[in-house]
Amino acid sequence: MAIFPIRVYPDPVLRSPAAEVTDIDDDIRRLVDDMFETMYDAPGVGLAAPQIGIPLQVVVWDVGDGQHHLINPVMLETEGEWVFDEGCLSVPERYWPIERAAYARARGLNLDGEEIEYAGDELLGRVLQHEIDHVNGIVLLHRLPRRVRNQALRAMRREDWSRGTP
Ligand code: ZN
Repeated sequence: MAIFPIRVYPDPVLRSPAAEVTDIDDDIRRLVDDMFETMYDAPGVGLAAPQIGIPLQVVVWDVGDGQHHLINPVMLETEGEWVFDEGCLSVPERYWPIERAAYARARGLNLDGEEIEYAGDELLGRVLQHEIDHVNGIVLLHRLPRRVRNQALRAMRREDWSRGTP
């Protein structure tokens, strides 16, 4: 197992749709292990493969009830609204109140190649939406109202300049 550096916005890998996994082989099993290790080290409650520079549709999470993963996840259903202070390991140390569905139901494959569904509200529903966004090339900044997003991007650029990393 290995801990990977986490890619930070605006890295292009975070802004491009990831590819479907066609073969669930040892490389994918190792990737899932590495993603858990990287996520716990960060620490975070969810991680998508593009966040460690691997442009594949693989997501992992642990919202307190153990390790879960989905390969080629798709959102089947969302319902309701919930505003929650949300952050992202790829946009470090920043949180915004973000409105998303309160409930989400998603389907994908597990490492045995079996179809599996997860459904939930609160943190699980939030994480499913956040991580599936990642494999579609969407980061939480895209979920902000435009004016808030533009302010956030300006503030991030200012900080980068003051650190000398344009
Ligand atoms: Zn994220």
